Amino acid sequence: MAEKKVVLSEEEWKKFLTPEQYRVLRQKGTERPWSGKYIETKKQGTYKCAACGNVLFMSDTKFESDCGWPSFTAPAAYGNVEFKLDMTLFMERTEVVCGKCGGHLGHVFDDGPPPTGKRYCINSEALVFEEPTKP
Ligand code: FE
Repeated sequence: MAEKKVVLSEEEWKKFLTPEQYRVLRQKGTERPWSGKYIETKKQGTYKCAACGNVLFMSDTKFESDCGWPSFTAPAAYGNVEFKLDMTLFMERTEVVCGKCGGHLGHVFDDGPPPTGKRYCINSEALVFEEPTKP
């Protein structure tokens, strides 16, 4: 990765993340299904990491998955997220983390729609949505 990684102490993260953002991003928490602020968002724009501002997902890959979390078929760029094997909860899942700060975003599953067949199931709390700036 070309971009420099963001490395902060847990105390530093706590200073500028909300308690719920901290719980999701730094402690691998999961927001309650259907509670997230971006589930219904259909506007054009960019979803950035709530912790470090890294561009994670674009609105054109967002789809309605009925799973209770914002869902995308692909990351904005494959270098911008990283994958980790998650063996918790007696399941084998693929965790998705921010490629820049390592923050927990959600999981990716193989039951998504075309073109990728992937469902990136991402916590709203890990994201900040930005509409394109008008000229
Ligand atoms: Fe990040």
